[in-house]
Amino acid sequence: MTIFARIISGEIPADIIYEDQDVVAFRDIQPQAPAHILVVPRKPIPSIAQATEEDTLLIGRIFLAATKIARDIGIESDGYRLVTNVGDHGGQSVFHLHVHVMGGRPLQWPPG
Ligand code: AMP
Repeated sequence: MTIFARIISGEIPADIIYEDQDVVAFRDIQPQAPAHILVVPRKPIPSIAQATEEDTLLIGRIFLAATKIARDIGIESDGYRLVTNVGDHGGQSVFHLHVHVMGGRPLQWPPG
């Protein structure tokens, strides 16, 4: 079980800012930007690479939740970034699919 599954089940505390039937969103414990939220499906898919056709609607809901959160926390007008890391070279460290919502400052591109 990953740390995100433990957060979703309530076993481990997190600063949860949004949840619905499909996703839970909480503040990243090591924020890399003034606003840094993780949007996590309740379903424990290891990464987007393991998502299947049956996850099509869920993936849409993750991204729409991310845009709602960005709007609600006030970073929409200045812009923000949605990122999902995949595997070792992608920089993934928690193997439960999540989308990073990052904003509140100009972000560099490409990332290092
Ligand atoms: P990634 O490297 O894309 O897998 O992202 C995992 C993210 O989870 C990192 O940005 C970590 O800082 C964050 N993280 C790890 N443990 C926790 C936790 N207990 N609560 C909130 N964020 C966490």
